[in-house]
Amino acid sequence: MNAKLSPGLYIVATPIGNLGDLSPRAAEILSSADAIAVEDSRVTAGLLRHIGTKRPMTPYHDHNADAVRPGLIARMGTEAVALVSDAGTPLISDPGYKLVRDARAAGHTVVTIPGPCAAIAALTLAGLPTDRFLFLGFLPSKQQARADAIAEVAGVRATLILYESGQRLAVSLTALAQGLGDREAGVAREITKRFEECVTGTLSMLAARYADAPPKGEIVIVIAPPSAPAPASEDDADAALAEALNRLPPAKAAGEVAKRLRLDRKALYARALAMKDDT
Ligand code: SAM
Repeated sequence: MNAKLSPGLYIVATPIGNLGDLSPRAAEILSSADAIAVEDSRVTAGLLRHIGTKRPMTPYHDHNADAVRPGLIARMGTEAVALVSDAGTPLISDPGYKLVRDARAAGHTVVTIPGPCAAIAALTLAGLPTDRFLFLGFLPSKQQARADAIAEVAGVRATLILYESGQRLAVSLTALAQGLGDREAGVAREITKRFEECVTGTLSMLAARYADAPPKGEIVIVIAPPSAPAPASEDDADAALAEALNRLPPAKAAGEVAKRLRLDRKALYARALAMKDDT
């Protein structure tokens, strides 16, 4: 018998393919919740069967969320309401953010039970920098909107993560190569499932690979950050310093140029003093 849960909202991450990835804590919460808000009750029923439980489910998806949300929020005052999506972490390209927002506004307890997320799993597979990353969800499907969305992030110095379908993969990879430059990337497919793979290469190589053979299954694209600009030359630094010294004292000129050209401020300060002496 599971312990009675305190009232509130429980955000429960579920597997993205391999049922073995459901955490014991997630299973316990799902088995004890008074109600589970689900995207598709058939999908969640399968998961509940897997852990040998049956709980009342309330559909909560893009088409009924506004109508259903107030009732769920009211129930959280006295009942434990769990939120799941069909796969992975709720709220990540899935419904739930407004439910959490309103649960907080109503003063209810909000608890997260973290677990699988395709974006993070793909990031760990691709072998690209992980220190800064930007999750973009799905790109727009219309050509101009897609190009605009790509242009908006072209200068971001971070690894980019996108969700995509097999049918649109090659078109998106081509648009990404055009808008971002031909960066290194990874296409992670069917993560945690039998045919899991992560194919790496440049965006244009990957676009060519998938152009005639749209892959089956679920896909995440991971793209390397833009390469660092070539370091400024001594001549560039001198020119920038000379210009800055017309407006600023040496220390400030050195500081400004160091920041703009990403050069060492102390060395630039010494150079600025020498340039001042020469004039
Ligand atoms: N909330 C989910 C999560 O935490 O990853 C994502 C939901 S979003 C509606 C579904 C998309 O996630 C799929 O179209 C695919 O791009 C990606 N995805 C989900 N499972 C995946 C898997 N096993 N392998 C690769 N991509 C996956």
